[in-house]
Amino acid sequence: MAVQTRIVDVYRKPSKCPVCGESVVDIIYGTGDMSEIEFFFEYRRPGIMGGDNIPRRPPIWACSCGCKRFRKINPDGSDAEVKVKMLKSIKPAPASVITWETSLVERVLETGVGVINHYQVKVTTELGEKVKLKISAVNGEDAEDSAIGLVEKGALGLKGRKCISVAVFDVAK
Ligand SMILES: [Zn+2]
Repeated sequence: MAVQTRIVDVYRKPSKCPVCGESVVDIIYGTGDMSEIEFFFEYRRPGIMGGDNIPRRPPIWACSCGCKRFRKINPDGSDAEVKVKMLKSIKPAPASVITWETSLVERVLETGVGVINHYQVKVTTELGEKVKLKISAVNGEDAEDSAIGLVEKGALGLKGRKCISVAVFDVAK
């Protein structure tokens, strides 16, 4: 669902939002009812959903909190030629760009008690899909359980929901 927010004219992509200081990300069009969270899980990159209606003078960037949208203009004030980002042309980033934290790690971070380790987990689903994940976990078993849970929940944008193999490797942070 696209939320309409105030559009600011800019010459180039702002390094951060001038209003709230959050990062500025691409607006993705052709997204239907997809939410930002759904987009993030499927494509593993931030973006603000533009929905299916592309305005005649489309903003192409937005604050990642959604508070402002940015339209590119030329220094003379005319509209810059822009190419809008369409969902159908976006490729998912590799699963390994995200570091997942297990709930046990969250507890360690809250309480300050315990050790956090970093793992690479290679998963194969029942459909033969293979992904590599980066998982912070308290131990290898925690990392494995977490990987299986992510696949079951469909959080990785895979079609399969079961792991037929899970291999856990220690990585030096
Ligand atoms: Zn903002």
